[in-house]
Amino acid sequence: VMASMAHLQEEKLQLQEELLGLQEKLAARENDELSRSVQLQGQVETLKAKLLEQAQEISRLHSELGGTDAEKHRDLLAAENERLRQAMKACEGELRELRRQQQAPCHDCDHCQENVKLQERLAQLQLEAEETRTKLVELDLEVQQKTNRLAEVELRLKDSLAERAQEEERLSRRLRDSQETIANLKSQPQQVKYIIKTVEVESAKVKQALCESQSRNQYLQEQVGMQRQVLKEMEQQLQSSQKTAAQLRAQIMMYETELERAHGQMLEEMQAMEEEKNHAIEEAFSRAQVEMKAVHENLAGVRTNLLTLQPALRTLTHDYNSLKRQVRDFPLLLQEALRSARAEISQAIEEVHSTNRELLRKYRRELQLRKKCHNELVRLKGNIRVFGRVRPITKEDGEGPEAANAVTFDADDDAVLHLLHKGKQVSFELDKVFPPQASQEEVFQEVQALVTSCIDGYNVCIFAYGQTGAGKTYTMEGTAANPGINQRALQLLFSEVRSKAADWDYAISVSAAEIYNESLRDLLGKEPQEKLEIKLCPDGSGQLYVPGLTELRVKSVEDINKIFEFGHVNRATECTNLNEHSSRSHALLIVTVRGLDRSTGLRTTGKLNLVDLAGSERVGRSGAEGSRLREAQHINKSLSALGDVIYALRSRQGHVPFRNSKLTYLLQDSLSGDSKTLMMVQVSPAEKNTSETLCSLKFAERVRSVELGPVSRKAELASWPSQEQLEVNKGASHLPSPWTAASSGRSHTSTSPGQLSGRAASIRRKLQTSG
Ligand code: ADP
Ligand code: MG
Repeated sequence: VMASMAHLQEEKLQLQEELLGLQEKLAARENDELSRSVQLQGQVETLKAKLLEQAQEISRLHSELGGTDAEKHRDLLAAENERLRQAMKACEGELRELRRQQQAPCHDCDHCQENVKLQERLAQLQLEAEETRTKLVELDLEVQQKTNRLAEVELRLKDSLAERAQEEERLSRRLRDSQETIANLKSQPQQVKYIIKTVEVESAKVKQALCESQSRNQYLQEQVGMQRQVLKEMEQQLQSSQKTAAQLRAQIMMYETELERAHGQMLEEMQAMEEEKNHAIEEAFSRAQVEMKAVHENLAGVRTNLLTLQPALRTLTHDYNSLKRQVRDFPLLLQEALRSARAEISQAIEEVHSTNRELLRKYRRELQLRKKCHNELVRLKGNIRVFGRVRPITKEDGEGPEAANAVTFDADDDAVLHLLHKGKQVSFELDKVFPPQASQEEVFQEVQALVTSCIDGYNVCIFAYGQTGAGKTYTMEGTAANPGINQRALQLLFSEVRSKAADWDYAISVSAAEIYNESLRDLLGKEPQEKLEIKLCPDGSGQLYVPGLTELRVKSVEDINKIFEFGHVNRATECTNLNEHSSRSHALLIVTVRGLDRSTGLRTTGKLNLVDLAGSERVGRSGAEGSRLREAQHINKSLSALGDVIYALRSRQGHVPFRNSKLTYLLQDSLSGDSKTLMMVQVSPAEKNTSETLCSLKFAERVRSVELGPVSRKAELASWPSQEQLEVNKGASHLPSPWTAASSGRSHTSTSPGQLSGRAASIRRKLQTSG
């Protein structure tokens, strides 16, 4: 067993080694198979790649052979052509659209011109495109022909190739057969030798056939070469045609780009134009809208206006028509109206004339009546009026009790003043009393009525009476800054004359004279010391005149001022002490106003006598001698004569003693009749002057009292003796005689009817002369 076991073991090991060997062999085989399969697979891959290459080669060759390529090219070109045609069509469509748009309004603008140019260019391009197209068609044809020929050539080439292949196969088969035969023959040397011999015999034939076939092959190869040549030429031709096509295509492309550019440009232009147009349209539209709105508004306004105006228009038309009718009828109407108006006017003028005449007549009558009434009024008030003026206290009055004020006034009555004399108050009533504060102007206001009556042809005398230093010269002449009655009177006369200048011609002349010691001297003459005489007019009118008395015509205030100055100079040259001299003489300013009424030829003459009398103060009983005494006597005499005359006039006595003094004689015609006289009695208010003041006031009152009615006169007369007694007591004897007469009971009978009628006659006479 053991041995069998060992044997078996050995067998087992042997078998195991065999198994291992077999396993190794299997693995080697498997490896071999794997490598073989990998190898095979690689071979398959390479074969596949080769196959692909072959296929590619075939396709390349195919493409190289060119038939299909040319077709492709042709197809491409055809497609290109189609595309171009479509583009062209689109362009034409656009062009048509553009043309349609161009028919729209805008004509002469730049865009139109541009458009025309572009169109021309487009037409040109189209022509060029057409040419290109024809060329292309020609080329297409050529390509077609060439393709056809190429197809033919290819066919022929294929045929010849097939023939050649067959020939080759046939030849290779025959060569194989021949080689087999040769081999067979070699193996069978006898036979072979025979066969060789036959073959050699046959081989000659075969050789010949081979030669033939070789020559044929050569010919075929030549043909193939020729065909190749032809193909090459064809290819070259194709290439050239392709080149041309490419060129043409490039040209077409160029044209296209150009066309496109032009088109783009045109489009841009069109767009710009469109935009511009749109903008313009928008603008115009908006403007039009705004305008439209305004127009609408206007229209609405106009409509409302129209509505309101229509009735107005209707009335206006109506008016117009009626006016037209009136205008038509106007000349006739006018003529008629003118005729009637003329008649009416002439009638009215006639009426006015007659009324005027009547009125003038009435006016004259009224004037006369007024004058009469005025005169009567003045007469009733008194032709001789007496005013008193009290000067203010001056430095010359000194100081102390002597300079005390002795004159007082009545607050309620401006005609009354009270004088405190020796402890007693004596009251005086005059026509008016001016207190110290009364201005020159106020004084003149009371005087101016007298002055103006001189223009109407009345004679007026204004006397300044009073003791020296009481203000006579101040009242009459005044100062340069504050002129007195003289200058103001002349100014008034000038202005009155001017205001009447339309109807009247007036001449104002002035004389200045002085009466000293009863002799009359001309202050404006060349020889002032010459004594003048007063004479009766030789014409028998009873008027007095002074031969040689200078009368100067004055036209302005300047003239008067010169005359006054001249008179002063003349007066001053004659004496050593002007003040003293002037107080001892009467100064007269005689103003004559002569008037002529141009419409009636009526002449009037009025005289204004302004007299600054010599001082009325009494000369003391003792102390006055020689010339001083003579002067005093002359003054007394002349002032008494003035009093007498006034008294006689007032008491309407038949005889008025004018001739008793030079002064009254000279003023005779200015004191008598319905002449007007104003006596301005100047007094000093100073205590030391009360005696003279008393005398002056008595003189004033008496002059005034003359005219009073019998009853009041009686009362005056009752009071008279005591006053006179006072004077007598004082030993004064200078008072004029009328007053003495009055005191001695001289009767003051009321005016007799004869005297009245005489006065009335005088007034009538005066009125008759003054128209
Ligand atoms: P007569 O002429 O009476 O001698 P005057 O006129 O020379 O007196 O006056 C004497 C003085 O008194 C002068 O200095 C004058 O200026 C002054 N005088 C007179 N009256 C007035 C008056 N009313 N207002 C102011 N001064 C006056
Ligand atoms: Mg004097």
